[in-house]
Amino acid sequence: MLISERRKTNCIVIDTEKCKACHYCISVCPRDIIGTSKEINRLGYNYAEVISDKAHECTGCKSCAIMCPDIAISVYRCSRSESGTIS
Ligand code: SF4
Ligand code: SF4
Repeated sequence: MLISERRKTNCIVIDTEKCKACHYCISVCPRDIIGTSKEINRLGYNYAEVISDKAHECTGCKSCAIMCPDIAISVYRCSRSESGTIS
């Protein structure tokens, strides 16, 4: 893929196995990018997850990562293709 077909953006990764479903990250995200999964993790919680069709709206503000008491969220710069794949 050509570099021109990808654009720099912000991405978050949630370590779902660390999540205890406190929802702090959901409450602070200014773009409502994070939601609650229907699935449960090994701790028995419906973990937080990125809402895929809103992921491209992430501002990289890091509020979610700062608020998470379980240090389960990482925020980083990434490239996103037209189809939505990231690297
Ligand atoms: S970095 Fe900011 S905009 Fe992006 S998901 Fe976290 S709180 Fe939302
Ligand atoms: S703040 Fe952390 S522990 Fe709480 S719901 Fe979000 S990812 Fe899970």
